Amino acid sequence: MLLRSVLWAKPPLRACLTRCRHCGIFFLTHPRNAGRHDLRCPFGCREAHRKQASAQRSAAYYGDAQGKRIKSKLNERRARQYCAPEPPSDRPRPPGRRRRRARWNPLLIEYVRMVASLIEGRRVSRGQVLRMLARKLRQHTMSRRRQIDQTVAWLNKEPP
Ligand SMILES: [Zn+2]
Repeated sequence: MLLRSVLWAKPPLRACLTRCRHCGIFFLTHPRNAGRHDLRCPFGCREAHRKQASAQRSAAYYGDAQGKRIKSKLNERRARQYCAPEPPSDRPRPPGRRRRRARWNPLLIEYVRMVASLIEGRRVSRGQVLRMLARKLRQHTMSRRRQIDQTVAWLNKEPP
């Protein structure tokens, strides 16, 4: 396991090892949270919990009759805002590039960024993480393509 070899190489990071209280997966946490065992992993549990908590808060707040009136007023306002025409954007983004970037989960990027910073003992930026991931993905795609090419070549040589 990658995490284990990292911990072996960097013993001080062992204090940062914790386990998700929801799904039980091991992950590294920021040194300021070292020793805590009530955390949720950044692989989905944290986000899910936040959404649930905010839904509960919202339900509690809008629970009584007066709250319901406030909410319907808010919804009305929101609906009106939705109908308003969008302001023209003077900087259109190329759609292909945007889709490529949106594929990474921001929480995961932040996790990789934090772990990389801890391992390297310096601040690693989000941009560096994104470039590293793009490079890895490219390598992966390339080796995959080589494999397929080899299989095709082999099939041509020795048809089944
Ligand atoms: Zn989890």
